[in-house]
Amino acid sequence: MKGKRILIVGGVAGGASCAARARRLDEGAEIVLFERGEDVSFANCGLPYYIGGVIREEQSLHVASPELLKSRFNIDVRTRSEVTRIDRARCEIEVKSLETGEVYREPYAALVLAPGAAPIRPAIEGVDLPGVFTVRNIPDSRAIRGWIDERHASTAVVVGAGFIGLELAENLAQRGIKVAVLEMLPQVMPPLDPEMAEFVSFRLIEKRVDLRLDDAVSALTQEENGSLCVKTNSGKSFITDMAILSVGVRPESTLAKEAGLATGVAGAIQVDENMRTNDPKIWAVGDAVEVTNFITGEACVVPLAGPANRQGRVAADSICGRTTCSRGVQGTAVCGAFGLTIAMTGASEKLLRRRGVRDYEKVYLHPDSHAAYYPGATPIHMKLLFSRGDGKILGAQAVGEEGVERRIDVIAMAIQMRATVFDLEEAELCYAPQFGSAKDPVNLAGMAAANVLRGDVRLARWEDLSRSEALVVDVREPLEYAADHVDDAINIPLGELRERLSELPQDREIFVCCGVGQRSYYAARVLTQRGFQVKSLSGGMRTYSHLPEGFGADDAAKGTTAG
Ligand code: FAD
Repeated sequence: MKGKRILIVGGVAGGASCAARARRLDEGAEIVLFERGEDVSFANCGLPYYIGGVIREEQSLHVASPELLKSRFNIDVRTRSEVTRIDRARCEIEVKSLETGEVYREPYAALVLAPGAAPIRPAIEGVDLPGVFTVRNIPDSRAIRGWIDERHASTAVVVGAGFIGLELAENLAQRGIKVAVLEMLPQVMPPLDPEMAEFVSFRLIEKRVDLRLDDAVSALTQEENGSLCVKTNSGKSFITDMAILSVGVRPESTLAKEAGLATGVAGAIQVDENMRTNDPKIWAVGDAVEVTNFITGEACVVPLAGPANRQGRVAADSICGRTTCSRGVQGTAVCGAFGLTIAMTGASEKLLRRRGVRDYEKVYLHPDSHAAYYPGATPIHMKLLFSRGDGKILGAQAVGEEGVERRIDVIAMAIQMRATVFDLEEAELCYAPQFGSAKDPVNLAGMAAANVLRGDVRLARWEDLSRSEALVVDVREPLEYAADHVDDAINIPLGELRERLSELPQDREIFVCCGVGQRSYYAARVLTQRGFQVKSLSGGMRTYSHLPEGFGADDAAKGTTAG
């Protein structure tokens, strides 16, 4: 039984999932998987944990071996085989065996490119010195483990505070290594909005990570004793046993470009909704492709394992005559660092603003991970972005110790279904005291947002505070107020508010605030119904205390207020 010849370049997330799906759909196809490295179908996402020793055995990182792919799916897997050229006119690829040096050609009926993305190595002095690493595959991780063990490394600099950088920092710290994290942006976790990223920064500092923001590496040099010196733009230097660069990835699209395939953002390969390139016989998936942002519709790159796996299936479906479509990518992601879970889905506020979207609203809340009366509840810091016109959910971010990813997953699915905040209000979710609350944080986020859209409460944004003439009324208890409050705020506890209305002006706007935004909402309802012009400061002092310096300053500079 000999059928269609499907050749796949790249044998990990996108490539392997495409190969296995193609086999399930077409028993007669001849499927050949070419992988430049030693391993196929390995767990890239597990690499930081292998470096940290949480995953002890290298073997555990192998999700499927070439032998298993052969026996279970009848896939011809060729490792250490680099595809060096695509001859589109003849529908052939050129392959170089990295074992023998032999170069040969293979014809295809369908070609799938799943070459992934390579870690960026900035063009700075010393980037190739011994002890400077990037992490993409098992050999990289093995080299880092070996270096730590052989040199008894006790210090490390992680360059870049994105997902992988933070995971690496945590894993190195877990091994007893003193870690410094350098990030050129003024915040960690670039996909988050800065005020949400502050919760993460606080935790890193609390855990004694030497966190340096707003400072980029300018050079690496070697000391006489073999240590590295990491120098920064601001003139600082760090003497360290090793440095790991995690400053982002670049789509591996050279092969595609040289073959004349269309590329777009960051050089990523352009594909249609069936993952087909501008050549009808060539498909591309994973980190190497340009995708459509599900919220904004813009072209972008989103290097995540979930999309790569799903795109592999879509490409296989398309090759085998099915019409499954990729819906685009909304950037649902999660990261664990130093006991915190950081998760997000959809658009961030900074992305919306960059795209010129202004008719959005946002709410902050800090609900407990489960019923407060059941031991061990911890706060989940949440931000929900939604369209002011119809309440459509645009994005959500959450940081906390427990139950974070569950809430973001629910909202991610709601976004997929183009749902609104009114749907979140009504969502029926699991509840028992050890897992959640009868009003789940997802419900609460929906309710807070729906209150705004129904006009039950008007929200003030923290970034508007400094340029507003409003009187700030702090409705917490005196002890809470004494511990920390907004400059010039007066204190009228919620329980005394109805008796002290005469102290409040009828002709001046009032901003009410409290700890997390709940009591200020109650206060706003009291005052609104009594004819005061009132707004509630969303998220309360817990949000305020995490606003980075200069938060919202760009709005002031442009003479606008957010939204
Ligand atoms: P890859 O998985 O990178 O596979 C591409 C393969 O193609 C490579 O093995 C490469 O050697 C091979 N190749 C390239 N060019 C050629 C050629 N010319 N010939 C032959 N072979 C070639 N994502 C998440 O969603 N969650 C996480 O927690 C997460 N953690 C991560 C941690 C680390 C350390 C890393 C590196 C990535 C992580 N990711 C995570 C990202 C995720 O691994 C990628 O999005 C996903 O693997 C992309 O799949 P892909 O098939 O496009 O590329």
